[in-house]
Amino acid sequence: MQVTLWGTRGSLATPGPEMARYGGNTSCVGILGREGTILVLDAGTGVRRLAATIPESVRRIDILLTHLHMDHIQGLGFFAPLYRPDLEAHIWGPGSTTLRLQSRLMRYLSPPLFPVSLSELPCQLTFHEVPCVDVDIGEFRVNSVLVCHPGPTVGYRIAEAGGGVMTYLPDHEPALGNPHFPCLPREWTSGGTLAAGADLLIHDGQYSAAEYPGHCGWGHSSLEHALDFGTMTEVKELVPFHHDPGHTDNDLDRLLAEAIAESKPSCRVSPGTEGRVFHL
Ligand SMILES: [Zn+2]
Ligand SMILES: [Zn+2]
Repeated sequence: MQVTLWGTRGSLATPGPEMARYGGNTSCVGILGREGTILVLDAGTGVRRLAATIPESVRRIDILLTHLHMDHIQGLGFFAPLYRPDLEAHIWGPGSTTLRLQSRLMRYLSPPLFPVSLSELPCQLTFHEVPCVDVDIGEFRVNSVLVCHPGPTVGYRIAEAGGGVMTYLPDHEPALGNPHFPCLPREWTSGGTLAAGADLLIHDGQYSAAEYPGHCGWGHSSLEHALDFGTMTEVKELVPFHHDPGHTDNDLDRLLAEAIAESKPSCRVSPGTEGRVFHL
C-alpha cells in the first residue's frame, strides 16, 4: 500500500511560512492499495488536496473517521468526489450513545455552519458505525477500537492482503490514568493491540515533554510518550502526527531530536511532514 500524509497538523489549520515543511493542514492520510482501493483516513483540511489526485474513473471511496472533532471533519464538504452522482462514498465513524454517525455529522454539514446539507450531496452515501472488527474493504482488512481521547474516538489498524500493516492513532493519550505507562503490558494499554507489530504507526505527538503536564487529559500525547508507545508495541516505523499549532518547523525538528535522545525508541522515527509518502 501507498500511504500519503495530506494533513499532519492537530487542532487547528495553521498555515504560514514557518510551518511550510511540516504543513498547516489538519489530519488527513490517503491510502492506495495495490488493487486500486482508496481509503481516506480523516477529513481534515488536507482532504481537499487529496481529492485532486483521485481520477474521475474511481467509483468507490471509503472515508474512515477516527472521531468528529472539527479538525478531522472540516474538509469533508470540500472533498470534491462527494459531488459526483456516480460515486459510491462510504463514511465510517463513531456514533455516540444518543446519536448515530449520520446525525452527528449533520450538525456540521448543514446550515448555518455549512451551506450544503449532508443529505443533499449528489453521491451515493452509506454510513457505517465503528468500532468494527475484521471488515474487508477491497484488498484491506480494517479493525477499529475505541481509544483514550475525549468523546467517542477510534484508532484504525489496516492490513493489506499479502502486504503491510499500518495503524492510525492521530488523537490518543495512552498515558492518561496509567501511572505505569509505558511499563504495563500493551494489552492493558489504550491502542496497544491495534498497533502491535505494525509496519507503520502514525501516532499523536502533539506536545513536548514540558508541555504535557499542563495538558494532561486533553487527549493527546507528548512526543516522548508517542515514541515509548512505538517501542512498547514493537512497530517498525513511527510517524509523530497531529502537531501542535504553536510548533514551527524549527520547533518540531528540535523537539523530535530531543525526544529521540530521551526515549531511545526501538523503531525508526520519521518526521510527519505534509506530502510525505510511505510504501509498505
Ligand atoms: Zn485532532
Ligand atoms: Zn480530537
